Amino acid sequence: MSGQWQEQVSLKPYNTFGIDVKARYFTQAHNDEDVRRALAQAAAQGVPVLVIGGGSNLLLTADVQALVLRMASSGLRIVSDDGQRVVVEAEAGEPWHPFVEWSLAQGLAGLENLSLIPGTVGAAPMQNIGAYGVEIKDVFVGLTALDRQTGALREFDLEECQFAYRDSVFKRHPGRWLILRVRFALSRVLHAHLDYGPVRQRLSEQGISNPTAQNVSDAICSIRREKLPDPVELGNAGSFFKNPVVAGVLADKIRVQHPGLVAYPQADGQFKLAAGWLIEQAGWKGHREGDAGVHRLQSLVLVNYGHATGLQLHQLAQKIQADILERFGVTLEMEPNLY
Ligand code: FAD
Ligand code: NAP
Repeated sequence: MSGQWQEQVSLKPYNTFGIDVKARYFTQAHNDEDVRRALAQAAAQGVPVLVIGGGSNLLLTADVQALVLRMASSGLRIVSDDGQRVVVEAEAGEPWHPFVEWSLAQGLAGLENLSLIPGTVGAAPMQNIGAYGVEIKDVFVGLTALDRQTGALREFDLEECQFAYRDSVFKRHPGRWLILRVRFALSRVLHAHLDYGPVRQRLSEQGISNPTAQNVSDAICSIRREKLPDPVELGNAGSFFKNPVVAGVLADKIRVQHPGLVAYPQADGQFKLAAGWLIEQAGWKGHREGDAGVHRLQSLVLVNYGHATGLQLHQLAQKIQADILERFGVTLEMEPNLY
């Protein structure tokens, strides 16, 4: 086997749930050449390939009988700058939050609401990462991907990515495209999105009425640190379920029994329900089965208290899904990618 591939590597350090499964083979790609070489070697030997970034949106339920290819490419650059609109490009292996910090240090706004999201730039388009009312589609310009079926490079523009709520063409066709680098259009002027959750309140508590992008980022980082478990201390993959979008009649029906229902009207007349609220109402908050549990502060986050397996976490998730369906008639869809 190639000298660059390690064998039987524990993936515990490479997934934020901290699940201790093994990769049959493991290697890292620092540039396009490494990617091409690894894919060619794997194809020649009939070995499947699983591409990962920071492992913050994975649920690994068994040893991975494949080559795990971890994207570790680096490079951040300004592609164009007309004085107002600045296009930046980042390599897939760049960690997301340091990229956001770099953009802020350049005096660029646009990514501040997406501060402190774990993972890599290359995985961000997979589920059109979003937080506090902003998704990457709002600042996305294009990306370069490798078509794993043909080996050709392919450019994707905004429309071709088919971004939707925690979804994209890449998520719908897993394993087809390997994202190499992503471009975003940022701005020298802040168009602040403060009306989500407690962001405006946090700023006003600090006496800030006319925030900079850095102020918004700092406020969001402080809120997130209070609410979300740090994967370094407690294994997790962030929100475990997507917020379900349901018909108005179903939202009305649930509201009869649960007047406090958290439901956000959508442009198409449907309602987005807060999955965390449903799970909490059903009594799952803080629930623990062995080392698999529901976080005590944030019901949308499943956690690994130490030695939970991916299967145990998946079983807990399935119990929650069945209970929410029975109680509310609502189907919860898993957000992390299951392997
Ligand atoms: P991985 O988990 O390594 O991979 C995810 C998927 O993408 C896998 O299917 C993998 O095969 C594929 N993939 C990875 N890299 C590439 C590539 N270069 N090309 C093609 N496919 C690739 N998400 C949000 O949207 N908003 C949040 O606010 C948010 N907060 C979070 C908070 C915490 C504490 C945690 C643990 C997670 C959070 N997440 C959030 C989820 C996660 O951080 C994001 O989905 C992130 O983009 C995943 O990046 P990653 O590099 O870790 O991807
Ligand atoms: P929150 O502020 O407690 O809000 C609960 C839910 O209500 C969120 O899921 C959010 O939906 C929705 N919401 C809140 N204000 C809204 C508004 N003004 N309009 C429409 N919907 C609204 O949520 P949280 O758990 O602390 O997370 C804060 C933000 O970070 C959210 O945007 C969340 O998606 C994001 N986040 C994501 C992950 C992940 O792994 N995917 C992990 C942590 C945080 P949305 O989720 O649709 O935004």
